[in-house]
Amino acid sequence: MAVNIILPLSSLSLWNTKKLIYSTQIRFRIMSLASKSQPQSVASSAVYQVPGLDSHEMDSTADKTFERYLSNTAKRNGKGVSIVWFRNDLRVLDNEALFKAWVSSQAVLPVYCIDPRLFQTTYYFGFPKTGALRAQFINECLADLKKNLMKKGLNLLIQHGKPEDILPSLTKAFGAHTVYAHKETCSEELQVERSVARGLRQVVLSTAQGNSSRSSSTHSPKLQLIWGSTLYHLDDIPFSVGSLPDVYTQFRKSVEAKCTIRGCIRLPTSLGPPPSVDDWGIIPSVEQLGLHSEKVVKGMRFLGGETAALSRVTEYFWNKDLLKIYKETRNEMLGPDYSTKFSPWLASGSLSPRFIYEEVKRYEKERQANDSTYWVLFELIWRDYFRFISIKYGNSLFHLGGPRKVEKRWHQDQKMFETWRNGCTGYPLIDANMKELSASGFMSNRGRQIVCSFLVRDMGIDWRMGAEWFETCLLDYDPCSNYGNWTYGAGVGNDPREDRYFSIPKQAKTYDPDGEHVAFWVPELLPLPKEKRNFPGKSYIEQVVPLKFGSSNKHHSQRSKYGGRHSGLGNR
Ligand code: FAD
Repeated sequence: MAVNIILPLSSLSLWNTKKLIYSTQIRFRIMSLASKSQPQSVASSAVYQVPGLDSHEMDSTADKTFERYLSNTAKRNGKGVSIVWFRNDLRVLDNEALFKAWVSSQAVLPVYCIDPRLFQTTYYFGFPKTGALRAQFINECLADLKKNLMKKGLNLLIQHGKPEDILPSLTKAFGAHTVYAHKETCSEELQVERSVARGLRQVVLSTAQGNSSRSSSTHSPKLQLIWGSTLYHLDDIPFSVGSLPDVYTQFRKSVEAKCTIRGCIRLPTSLGPPPSVDDWGIIPSVEQLGLHSEKVVKGMRFLGGETAALSRVTEYFWNKDLLKIYKETRNEMLGPDYSTKFSPWLASGSLSPRFIYEEVKRYEKERQANDSTYWVLFELIWRDYFRFISIKYGNSLFHLGGPRKVEKRWHQDQKMFETWRNGCTGYPLIDANMKELSASGFMSNRGRQIVCSFLVRDMGIDWRMGAEWFETCLLDYDPCSNYGNWTYGAGVGNDPREDRYFSIPKQAKTYDPDGEHVAFWVPELLPLPKEKRNFPGKSYIEQVVPLKFGSSNKHHSQRSKYGGRHSGLGNR
C-alpha cells in the first residue's frame, strides 16, 4: 500500500521572529580542531566546529560504532506494521522503541512530527520557544537520523503537524498495530502523549489489519511508551519516584550502590523493509519554520545528529584523550575541550547516556580509570536526577516558588532583564557568557551558574525570565535539566541547602584569571592588561546594578549606575 500524507508547511503557526543575535562585525575562520584543541590565545575570533572531524572521519566513526553494536541473535516475531514515533530520541544506537517496533512487526514505519507548538512562544514571557540555532541543530539531527535509518534499510517519514493528528491517521492508513515511542516526563510532552493515546483509541482497525491476536473483528492501535532517556532505568532505581531523596548525594549514593546500568540495545544489520510510502516528506528550512536563520560566526558550532555525537565521544575520549583530565578542566569556559560538550546530543536523544557509560568503562579498561573518568558519570547522574525530580514535582518545577513553594519577592524589570539578556550589564563575565549563549546556543556550566546567580540574586529578577530565555537559546535545552538547575540556582529547588551566591569577582579570578573568555566575547576588552579584562573600570560600560555582596577586592571596585555597594558574606 502506498500512502502519502503530508501536511503543508503553511499549517505551522509562523512566528514572527525578532533577531535574537546581537551581531558583531567580525572576521572568522573555521579551525579544524582535529589537530588543535584549546585556543592558544584570544587574539582572533574563531569558529570551532564540534566535533572537529571532517565528514568522512565522522561517517567512518559512526559506521564502526554501529558495527560494534550489532546483534546476531535478535529475532523478529511480529506481524503487520508498527510505527516508531521519534521525539527526543533521534538516534539508532540504543533505541529501544526502534528495536521493539522491529521485533513486533514485519515492517517498521519511522515517523517524526514537526509540531507547530514547538515554534510558538514560551509559557510566561513570550520568548520564542525554539531559537533558530536549536531549530537548525534539530534539522541536522533529523537529516542524520534519516541517513542512518536508510543504512539500516528504513527511512524517516517527516510530517508537519501535531502528533495527535498525524499518528492516528498513519496507523489507520498503514493498519499499524502499535506506535512505539520514548516516554517523556514534563507536562507539555505528557499532554501530547495523552492526546495521541486518545486519538489512537478512536481508530478502528479490522483484525485483518495490524497484528491482533484477539478474536474480535476490530481493535485500536496501541501506544507503547518506553523509558530510555537516562543512565539508570526508572524501573531499576531503589525508590518509588514519590520518595526520591531531595538531596542529590543521597540519590547518587543509593543508585550507585544498589542499581546496575542496563546494557545498550543492539540492533540487527537490517531493520527493513519499511512499508511502501510515496513521499517521505522534507525537513523544512529554518525559515520555513518561521525563524530567521542564524549562522555561528564565533565560538562553538555544534553539528547536529547521531553521527556527530558518536564522533564527539570518539574525539573527546579517544583521539584527544581528554577524559582523563575532565575533572580538572570541566569548570573552564573557553573552547570546545574543557568539557565533553555531549549535552546538545543528549538533549535531542542523538546520544544515549548508556553508550557514554559503556565508552567510559572501555576507556577505563584500555587506558586508565581515575577521578575524571568517574566524574563524567557523576555529572550524568545529575541529569538523571533532574529527570526523576521532574516526575516527583511535576509542574511546580515551572512555578515561581518552585518545588518548595518558596515565597519571595521578585521583580520583572524588562529593561534590566534586557541588559542581562543582551550582555550589557557592565560586568564582563556576565556579558561574555550571555553573548556566547546568543551567538552559539551554548554556555559552560560554570557560566550558567554565574549568570543565573547574577540575575536572581544581584538583580532580583524573576528566575523564570532567565529560565525561559535559556529555553529559547540553548542547543541542549531540556525542561528537566534547565528548570531543575534554575530552581536550584534561584533557591527554590527541592534541596534547601542548594542556595548559593556566586561572587563575580571571585569567579572571574578563579575561572578566567587572564580574562581570555571575556576578551574573546567582548573584544573591546582585549587591549587591556589581562588582569584588568574582568575589572575594566571606566574603560567599559557602566554597571547596571551593584553586586549584592560587593567586590571581593578593593582594587577591583567599580562604579555602578545605582551607586551604592553592599558587602557581606556567602560568596562562592
Ligand atoms: P559536561 O561537564 O561534560 O557534563 C557531561 C554531561 O553531564 C552533560 O552533557 C550533561 O548531560 C550532564 N550534566 C552536567 N552538569 C549537569 C547539571 N548541572 N545538570 C544536569 N546535567 C548535567 N543542561 C542541559 O543538558 N540542558 C539544559 O537545559 C541545562 N540548563 C541549565 C541551566 C542552568 C541555570 C544551569 C546552571 C545548568 C544547566 N544545564 C543544562 C546543566 C549543564 O550546565 C550542562 O549540561 C553542561 O554545561 C553541558 O556541557 P557539557 O556537555 O560539556 O557538560
